[in-house]
Parts: sequence; structure tokens; C-alpha cells
Amino acid sequence: MSEKGRVVGRFAPSPSGRMHLGNLWSCLLAWLAARSQGGGVVLRLEDLDPDRCRVEYCDQVMRDLEWLGLTWEGEVVYQSRRTQAYTQAFQELEEQGLIYPCYCTRAQRLAASAPHRSDGLSVYDGRCRRLSPQERQKLAWTRTPAWRAEVPDREVVFQDLLQGEYRENLSRDCGDFILRRSDGVYAYQLAVVVDDAFMGVNQVVRGSDLLSSTPRQLWLQERLGLPHPQYGHVPLLLAPDGRRLAKRDRDLELGQLQQHYSAPQLVGRLAYGAGLLDRPEAITPEELVPLFTWDKLPREDLVLQ
Ligand SMILES: [Zn+2]
Repeated sequence: MSEKGRVVGRFAPSPSGRMHLGNLWSCLLAWLAARSQGGGVVLRLEDLDPDRCRVEYCDQVMRDLEWLGLTWEGEVVYQSRRTQAYTQAFQELEEQGLIYPCYCTRAQRLAASAPHRSDGLSVYDGRCRRLSPQERQKLAWTRTPAWRAEVPDREVVFQDLLQGEYRENLSRDCGDFILRRSDGVYAYQLAVVVDDAFMGVNQVVRGSDLLSSTPRQLWLQERLGLPHPQYGHVPLLLAPDGRRLAKRDRDLELGQLQQHYSAPQLVGRLAYGAGLLDRPEAITPEELVPLFTWDKLPREDLVLQ
């Protein structure tokens, strides 16, 4: 899909509603990072979860990106249409003996794990890995399992474009993680790894809330024989009270923002927050391209005033 050496970044929004300021922020930075190196961006709609995603939101996401002036290249990829590719990758991992069924209920999972990660996620204790074949058979009568990857006791280290060196021990800091839910939906970790490779993505710029999922993705890439993209995790925009922005922050949704700002005004405000402008003046993404460098970006999360 890409010429050799050319930077291919990506937008990977989840179409579960209107985009909010936080989504726009990371899309703008991903676009600028790729464009400033003479590259471009591809678009993938992460609509795997049928409970949360709707077709009309997919169209809305594309209109919102276009409105801002954030262009993409090539065919749009919908994760909901990529199940076959995920199944193939899942089977490859299964053949390597890296997958086991987990029969834990949600309550058991919470009780079985120690919430000692900085991001509030908990580490699964691996109890279903140790089940005997007889125990598995018995549990299978009453429950449809989720499927977990068995991670090694190994440290994964990588250089983040913004955060510097990041390291994590897979079994201690992360634990065996779910690759397929009990309802058959493939997990985010597996889908993004398969899709990034399929789309030729070699630079992933996204919010720092995903920093800690990167070691898992690097490990999956290794097991599946896929190339490692470069990663850059940008700070998050936080609500005035320090919370992460969420769907309920209606006033920061693009539909609302459009009533107060033109696209260049909004881009200018985001660029000002990113340290790319001295004042929040109106500007187009295209005009920002020569102004982008990683050195200017803040490393700490930004609290909106
Ligand atoms: Zn389990």
C-alpha cells in the first residue's frame, strides 16, 4: 500500500457517537506527524463492538474529519468487515499454543486480579491457564469461554516518539489478556495489530491512554511475524475537573463546537494547546504542516479551562 520508507500514519476512531475534542486532538496530531515527514494517513473505523457502534456514526466521523480538513488516503477499512483476518491471526496464535479458554465470570475476573496498574486496569491471575482438561470440559457445559493469550515472563521495551523509553514486563504488569470475548467479538489488541500491518501503517500516533497496551501489541506483532510500527503517544485533553473527556461531555462534542467555531478556529485552538502556535489563531491543518515538530508537544496531559 505504501512506497518504501514513506510514513503511513492512521486515524482509528471508534464510531460510537460524535467525535469530541479529544478525538480531534489526536487525529490532528497523527495527521501532522505523518504529513510533516512527507507521508499520509489511512482511515480505519473501529466498529467491532456491535453494542456500541452504528453505521450512521461511521459516516459522521468521516464528515467530521473532512470538515476539519483532515484528509486520508486509500480505502476506508471497517473492522466489522475484517473478521476473517482476525480469525486467521487467532488460529496462528492457537497453533503456537499461546491461547487458552477463560471461563471466569466478570465477578470472578475482578476478584482474581490485583488492580495494581497505574491506569487502573487489573492483572489477571491466570487461574484458567492452570485448569485440567477435565475441569475445562466440565466448565464448557455451562459457559462459553473468552479466549486469552498466555504472555511470557518477559520485559518489552520500546522508544516512544514523545514519551521516550517505555518498558513493561508482560506477565507481571499486564497478565494474560483477552483476544476474543465470549460473545465471539475479537479484542482490540488483536484487531489493531492485524489491521495496522494490513494497511501498511508504520507510524501510530494516539492518546497516551493506550501507551500501556503497546507492549502487548509489540509482542503480538512478533508472534504473528508482523512489522513493528513507530509509536508516539500524545497527552490527553482532560475536562476542567481532571477527568478524561467522555461522551457525556456534550459541550465538547464536534456538533456543539461547530456552533461556536469555524474549522480553522478549532484547529488553531488545538494547535495552540499543542505548542505549535503562540496564540490560538485560525489556521488550517495544511498550514500547520511546516510548524509541526515533536519537540514542541507537551508530555503532560492538558486540562481544558
Ligand atoms: Zn479465567
